[in-house]
Parts: sequence; structure tokens; C-alpha cells
Amino acid sequence: MSNSLISSDIDFEAKGKHTGFLRLPHSVHRSAYGRILMPIVVFNNGDGPTTMLMAGNHGDEYEGQIALSKLSRELEAQDIQGRLIILPMANFPAAQAGRRTSPLDDGNLNRAFPGEPHGTPTQMIAHYIEAELLPMCDYFFDFHSGGSSLYYPATLLRGLGHSAKESAKLIELQAAFDAPYAWVFTSGGGRGSTARTAMGGGNRQGAITLMAELGGGGAVSPDILALTERGIKRLIHATGMLPAYVPDKANGTREMTIVDTVTAYDNGLFEPYFAVEDEVKKGEAAGAIHFPETPWRAPILLEFQQGGMVLCQRVPGLVERGDCLFQVANDLY
Ligand SMILES: [Zn+2]
Repeated sequence: MSNSLISSDIDFEAKGKHTGFLRLPHSVHRSAYGRILMPIVVFNNGDGPTTMLMAGNHGDEYEGQIALSKLSRELEAQDIQGRLIILPMANFPAAQAGRRTSPLDDGNLNRAFPGEPHGTPTQMIAHYIEAELLPMCDYFFDFHSGGSSLYYPATLLRGLGHSAKESAKLIELQAAFDAPYAWVFTSGGGRGSTARTAMGGGNRQGAITLMAELGGGGAVSPDILALTERGIKRLIHATGMLPAYVPDKANGTREMTIVDTVTAYDNGLFEPYFAVEDEVKKGEAAGAIHFPETPWRAPILLEFQQGGMVLCQRVPGLVERGDCLFQVANDLY
């Protein structure tokens, strides 16, 4: 056992379906012996691998939280071969507030790994996930979206794998999830990862790790939610843990990597000339930043530095210097 102060209601070795909470001590003015109660569901049946499904790493990303809530109610222990851990609101205070970061400590969970056992709430959650949960896992899937500020079409994210065997499994799982796009990280990852993300934690702890970007803009997209629910069942099936599930025909995934990020250098109102999935050319105008406070001032035009497909766009029109406005992706090979 690690030196985490977080305790679990659930015995991870006990067979059956278990629902309960991870309890994080949080002593505040209005509640001296208070606890943050973070929901967790565990299915443990027969022999098989351990898979963890996580959402709410960023609290303003909703498709994964809804899909995992549905799955928690729908599945019974006998449906599962092995152990399935569902953590639907990983940074619980952020998810409860519908914010990317925690209102308690301003912590961004996906920049807090490997965490601190006696740190702030966000650091303690990161530590519990990396030190207690991930070492149990053969597979780890972390479901994100673009959050309040960005929007992605349904996109699976993966590394190249640190061995031929892991690479083959990642590609098999990518095909199983069957999102229209995959963003493949061509560097980093592996057991020596120094990433502060949950994916970094999964790689360090030896779990086969995937994440996904599923819509965004602070909203829930019905089409992407349906794809997410289908994809999660197909992923669990591909690990051998959902034997009775019969996947339908796959639609195929376009493998891409990011080649350009368009950044704002001025504060103003952004007029995008393109949207996600549009094909753009190198040197083409990406959009304009307007200055309605001085409406006779000419807008500033921004250019794409590389051609490709728009994989991600900023949602709010109000932009500040340093904001990401577009990500452009190109085919991996
Ligand atoms: Zn996220």
C-alpha cells in the first residue's frame, strides 16, 4: 500500500459488482471532518485482465462521464470476464463544478501526475490514481473532450507503444474504438514517460493506455455520445472482458498527427474561416482577429503554417494572446 490518505469503500479483490466512493479527507470551515466522496464502480468476475475506464479528469468534458454512468447501471458482474474499474468523475470537485480545473486548488488533474500523497486535493487524486489504481491495470482508457474552450470530432489518442507487442495492441484497440480519427503521438510515452498526464501515469505503470477527445465546447453532442458508448463496449470486448458482446462492422479510423497550431497574438474577437474536418492549405488565411472597440482598425489575419485537416478549433469567440485557435493534423504516413 502507498501512503495515500484516500481510502476506498471497495475491496478491489472481492468478486461481484460493487458501488461506492473513494474518500478524500477535506477539513474546511463548515465541515471539520469532511470528506470528498468520489464515485467508483468495480466489476470483478472470473479470470481476466483489469481495465480502468476514467472520465471527468477535466470536469467540463461530459460525453465520457455520461457514457460511464450508463455503463455503471447497465452492466452486471456476470457480463465481465476479469476486473473493470469505472471512475466517472476523476477530479470530482472540478467535475461537480463543470470546470476544467478544481475550484478547491485550481488544480488541473491532467497536469498533476504522478501527484503528491499529502498535497492539494488534485495532487492527492493524481497520486491515488497513479500509485493505487494504475498498478492494478492491464488497460487504462481516459475519456476527454475539448472542454469549454476547444472542440474536436471524435478522436482517439495513442502513442506508438514501447514494444512491437504493445504497438500491435494499441492499433487493435484503436480499430475497436472505431472513432473517425486517431491522433498518434510520435514521441514520448513508454515506461520512462515524464508526462504529467494520466496517460503518462498509465505508461509509467505499464498499462496499455489510450485516451480520447470527444466533442467539447462545454456541450454534449448526441452523435459523439452514441459513438462513445459504442466505442467503450467495443474496447472492453477487445480486451476479452465482454465476451457476449457482438461488435458491428467498423467504419475505420484515419490516423493523423498534429503538424500546426494556430495561436492568437492579440486580444480580440476571432472570426474563424474554417471548422473541424475542413482541409486547409499552407499559407492560407485561418481567420481574423477583430477589434470592435476600435472598429475602424483593420483586423489581423492569421495563417496556417502547414496544410492538412482542422482537427481542433477554439469555441469561444473572445480570444486572448496565447490562446490556441486551431490544430491542424496530417495523415500519419
Ligand atoms: Zn481533457
